[in-house]
Amino acid sequence: MGLLYLGTPLSWDQAKPHADAIREHGITQFLNIWHRLKDRQGDELLWGDEVEYMVVSFDHDAGAARLSLRQTDILAKLAQLVNDICIESPFRTDMPTFHPEYGRFMLESTPGSPYTGSLPDLLSVEKSMRYRRTLARSHLKPNEVPITLPVFPRLGVPGVFTDPYYDPANAKASHSLFLPDEITNPHVRFPTITANTRERRGSKVAMNLPLFFDTNTPRPFIDPTIPWDRNIYKEDPEAKNGAALPDHIYMDAMGFGMGCSCLQITFQACNIAEARRVYDALVPIGPIMLALTAASPAWRGYLSDVDCRWNVIAGSVDDRTEEERGIKPLSENKYVIPKSRYDSVDSYISTDWINRPEYNDNPLPIDEKTYQRLRDNGLDDLLAKHIAHLFIRDPLIVFSETLDWNDETSSDHFEGIQSTNWQTLRFKPPPAGSPIGWRVEFRSMEISLTDFENAAFSIFIVLLSRAILSFGLNFYVPMSKVDANMQRAQKRNAAREGTFFFRNSVFPVGSERRYTTTAPVTPPDLPNGCGPSINKENKLRNCYPEVPPPADPEKLRVPIEEEYEEMTIDEIINGKGNDFPGLLGLVHAYLNSLDVDFPIKRKLRKYLALIEQRADGTLMTAATWQREFIRSHPDYKFDSVVSESINYDLLKAADEIERGLRPAPGFLPSHYTGTEEDTGEPGP
Ligand code: ADP
Ligand code: MG
Ligand code: MG
Ligand code: MG
Ligand code: MG
Ligand code: MG
Repeated sequence: MGLLYLGTPLSWDQAKPHADAIREHGITQFLNIWHRLKDRQGDELLWGDEVEYMVVSFDHDAGAARLSLRQTDILAKLAQLVNDICIESPFRTDMPTFHPEYGRFMLESTPGSPYTGSLPDLLSVEKSMRYRRTLARSHLKPNEVPITLPVFPRLGVPGVFTDPYYDPANAKASHSLFLPDEITNPHVRFPTITANTRERRGSKVAMNLPLFFDTNTPRPFIDPTIPWDRNIYKEDPEAKNGAALPDHIYMDAMGFGMGCSCLQITFQACNIAEARRVYDALVPIGPIMLALTAASPAWRGYLSDVDCRWNVIAGSVDDRTEEERGIKPLSENKYVIPKSRYDSVDSYISTDWINRPEYNDNPLPIDEKTYQRLRDNGLDDLLAKHIAHLFIRDPLIVFSETLDWNDETSSDHFEGIQSTNWQTLRFKPPPAGSPIGWRVEFRSMEISLTDFENAAFSIFIVLLSRAILSFGLNFYVPMSKVDANMQRAQKRNAAREGTFFFRNSVFPVGSERRYTTTAPVTPPDLPNGCGPSINKENKLRNCYPEVPPPADPEKLRVPIEEEYEEMTIDEIINGKGNDFPGLLGLVHAYLNSLDVDFPIKRKLRKYLALIEQRADGTLMTAATWQREFIRSHPDYKFDSVVSESINYDLLKAADEIERGLRPAPGFLPSHYTGTEEDTGEPGP
């Protein structure tokens, strides 16, 4: 979440007349940064993760697990604690930061300062995450536990699912049939964005996840837990008037999506061109990592037929009007907009020659005025379009106090639009007045149950980003295929059974760093030094030279349809045939190009082995683990219902597994013991 202001938030009717002015200030602020920092060079690799938790409150006597709504108290206590430790030990650099999130049952933590590219730093990720979890846990009540699963399976069921209980009848911001406003962070920003989304859209948001039909699930399924005839808010009849689909799990509020936890990774690039290159290369990786980290099978008390949070969170902040959604002809609004402001990336932005214009095959509505202004100020077409596309959105949270802030010193109006465009990747310009450089944030992954897994996925992504830069890898596929993959990634068991469009020739063609698909390349054979750019060193770094275009690039090009094929997650990660080494093969090749001591390699292998085994099916995803747990619970009636007792046992098991008190064969490696030291050996 972006910055939190104290101030007076404007309702949608009050905010709307300011939208154009705010966009204009936002672009002025961006241009000030652009003119100052577009040529900034030489920033080192710094990177960091964000881990989101839900705080579960157990009532062991009643056999119930509920969401604790003590976020405000918990954050205050953690801030005090961190402050006290810093006063005592002012030179410590490992003190984490805890952040608020949308859900009043959520916490977010980041490392105290970003990691560098040093290998010891890479190996400290799990330790940092464990330390943060330990700090959080030790300052909760004895019956409260921070749990890192994306979704609380009984969020929004009839009756009690929060501690303390609140009645959804009083949901004045969301008007939800299921969620009380008290599940939302009390800071004015959050109820305001909730209400303004609903007002702007002209109805409540509506998410319908396909139900998982089990042997005893009634067909057709008309959900008996929806209060179909409630009559408190004007939107109450929406459910029976078509918003709630039969055979689906219907959800009607921002909290269902923004209450989900994820794992995000931000890294700083050497310069803007490198940031754009790595952004583009990671776009097709987004859906792959979503499928691999899938951990969200149960929603509002039911098993669904999807494994991931993405479509729920996208739908949960979808503020588009009927005109913008293409249901009515345009009259009040300017554009038909294909996607929610939370969704996958819409356009590639690198000016590298390997970015063929044909890859940007998605419709891309842009704010023409913004686009022209950016072009007049020297931005190239691709970046101008990217920004002008973000700026088709209206600001949802406007504080009267910030309307005329200084555009030289502030970037808040820019950030206000930028940070409420929640895409799979985020291209982050340097904030005004800070020493930070151009960054890229990778945002598609679900949070994992253990910090061992969260560290593994973080490390994998940062190593992959280095492999991309050092080998000059090319992962481009048409954007429409990335979007198709986003949908495929969410299907039940996609990590095992799905196929995904993926590029089959990923090495640069016709350049010094040449790999051709005619010479077989398998991971062990990948050379240690891949061309002139790689020096033996033991540091992950930035500033890799661009792969120069070949003399006649057009000649080397094949039809786009021949550049990619359908592959399973196992093939994408672990390789296919002789020509495609897989993402893990590329990561291993990159590590071989470094001067890494054996003990460090061995430690890294335990993390990379997790990726390998999740992909090849030796280990199941957290979604499959939960699904199997639910379906084999003695109280389960094979009717798709996740009852209170099942939910309690599931979350209790999750906690015990995380702490290493309970084995999870087939889900975690057998060496997992819940402490960082003991997870040292790879292999089952
Ligand atoms: P947001 O919520 O806006 O995405 P956060 O501040 O919550 O951002 O997290 C940003 C992450 O970026 C943290 O892990 C932090 O350690 C890391 N980070 C901080 N400074 C830099 C930097 N200069 N380059 C890369 N990452 C950074
Ligand atoms: Mg967050
Ligand atoms: Mg954050
Ligand atoms: Mg932030
Ligand atoms: Mg983030
Ligand atoms: Mg294999």
